[in-house]
Amino acid sequence: MNDLYFTQEQIVWQEVPNEVSLAFLISGCPLRCAGCHSADSWKANRGEILSVDYLRTRLQMYRNLLTCVLFLGGEWQPETLLALLNVARDEFGLKTCLYTGLERDELPPMLLPKLTFLKTGRWVAVLGGLDNPNTNQRFIDLRTDEDWTHLFWK
Ligand code: SF4
Repeated sequence: MNDLYFTQEQIVWQEVPNEVSLAFLISGCPLRCAGCHSADSWKANRGEILSVDYLRTRLQMYRNLLTCVLFLGGEWQPETLLALLNVARDEFGLKTCLYTGLERDELPPMLLPKLTFLKTGRWVAVLGGLDNPNTNQRFIDLRTDEDWTHLFWK
């Protein structure tokens, strides 16, 4: 199982509607979208290792403050991401979210049952992000298959 690395960790309120999420920006996205806002994290081993022990420590520290853990990438190491999702869901009872540039049917299927929310779609500058009604990206509540993308529109 290969390690995943992260370059940013922060508590966020807007990326997952109605949730307080601990978000990790994972290094190594292979998609290379033109105009990517996180191009400095394309190298796979930038930052710190996101181990299950590290995640446990952080979730213990924030116990009762968080409702969700958000992974900004990481699907390119599905076994490693799965182990992290299991900690968040099964050990701490938290919701989980993945922001991926892939489409849903391109994702390793093993990940879907472990995710509460999923944001899909590559970055296409002319279409914009989730806050643009023309976007190609989608934010899905996987519990109901409901498309929540409109919640991001201003
Ligand atoms: S999917 Fe996201 S992180 Fe990956 S290259 Fe595209 S914009 Fe950057």
